[in-house]
Amino acid sequence: MGLRVYNTLGRKLEAFTPLDPPRVSMYVCGPTVYGHSHLGHAKSYVAFDAIVRWLRFSGYQVNYVQNITDVGHLTDDADEGEDKVVAEARRRGLHPMAVVETYLRSYLDDMDALNLVRPDIMPRATGHIPEQIEQIQTLIERGHAYEVGGSVYFDVASFPDYGKLSGRRVDELEAGARVAVGVEKRNPADFALWKCADESHIMRWPSPWGTGFPGWHVECSTMSQKYLGETFDIHGGGLENQFPHHECEIAQAEAATGKKFARYWLHNNMCTINGQKMGKSLGNAVSLKDIFYTAEPLHDRDGNLLLERAFEPAVVKHFILTSHYRQNLDFSNDALKAAESGSYKLRDARRALVEAARKAEPTPPSDAVRTPLAEFEQRFTDAMNDDFNTASAIAVAFELARESGKWIREGAGKDDLTQAATLMHRWTDEALGLRWREESSAGSDDRDQVVGLLADLRQEARQQKDFALSDRIRDGLKAIGIELRDTPQGPTW
Ligand SMILES: [Zn+2]
Repeated sequence: MGLRVYNTLGRKLEAFTPLDPPRVSMYVCGPTVYGHSHLGHAKSYVAFDAIVRWLRFSGYQVNYVQNITDVGHLTDDADEGEDKVVAEARRRGLHPMAVVETYLRSYLDDMDALNLVRPDIMPRATGHIPEQIEQIQTLIERGHAYEVGGSVYFDVASFPDYGKLSGRRVDELEAGARVAVGVEKRNPADFALWKCADESHIMRWPSPWGTGFPGWHVECSTMSQKYLGETFDIHGGGLENQFPHHECEIAQAEAATGKKFARYWLHNNMCTINGQKMGKSLGNAVSLKDIFYTAEPLHDRDGNLLLERAFEPAVVKHFILTSHYRQNLDFSNDALKAAESGSYKLRDARRALVEAARKAEPTPPSDAVRTPLAEFEQRFTDAMNDDFNTASAIAVAFELARESGKWIREGAGKDDLTQAATLMHRWTDEALGLRWREESSAGSDDRDQVVGLLADLRQEARQQKDFALSDRIRDGLKAIGIELRDTPQGPTW
């Protein structure tokens, strides 16, 4: 069975066949950088990390583009309100670009901590103003957009497919749309491509329609097509952006080119916390930095426990991967503790396998290990090929962990254990990207070996009664914080 993915466009599981195999072109909506990343960001970007990793694991060459929104995302997610970045800049007395830099770096730090593969290209909206203006001009020329008083709106009535992703109908949208102050739109469902801005706006650019800034949706249709072509394979993002953001992207892109935009739309579900909706305004948003580094228990504003202590990023990632990306994930301190103990079992099983393989006697492969190993491998692959079902795949990894414990106790041979250790390593390291903290201090293995060698040399010096040399080794190590102790079993440190 090959890879099948759930395409929101059409709402069904489909066989995945890229346009130009083995290449896969993929765009994922990135963050609006006006605050620290929270659990919702991790849920979304961990999901797409698993997707990119599995595509690459399967032999595809993925070109992964993820944008950074640094202008035009307004506080009400539609066409009114203040730019989120500008609002934060005003609160803190900073230039909007200083806010962008601060939170872009913070975002990358958090995603790196989670061991997410970095996108190949991370285009920023402010770096692509001419391209956005060009797309808007094309839309006006083709009769899909109109200018009013220096702003430009997309004419939803000119694009009959509007609503095909979200399943909403234009007449419903018109009835539900709020009538904004100073209405310029022909139709309440029309959306902004360009907003005119007076001199009080810091973030504004010249355009054929006067000074202003682009609407939020147009950056994604423009930048995805610039780097991936007019039609590309996968567009991903959070379920909350399906409407209006992704619906608007499709309208802009397909009305401008007359061609299909993204072929597969993948949406991840959301996070709740202790069964409640999570949000800054609700007083229960937990930032990733809180989870990774907090020294104190955290409570929500009603005094309920959110988090009793810090959890390492690999545990948070493991926790997210134990539910399917299209399912809602309920976060709680207890759920995280359970995920932690499970995650460490997997980590320890992997380490035990590597150790046992190193020490085992060389023996030829045995069917007693090879047959179940091949079955595990097939089941893991089937799980991931079933719309990236990481929850089932991790369950298979746990089965291998249990079974390999038995193989070790029964004295399985080097060849079999090496094969099992390699498989476990490829799953946890390559396919899932679980990098536990103990392993992330690069070179700790090397350091242990160097200290071990020095301890042996000191032992030899003592046996040859060269106490000056043995003391020099001991004192030298002590000076860099490593204390050697002599025990009946030999030196330890
Ligand atoms: Zn987007």
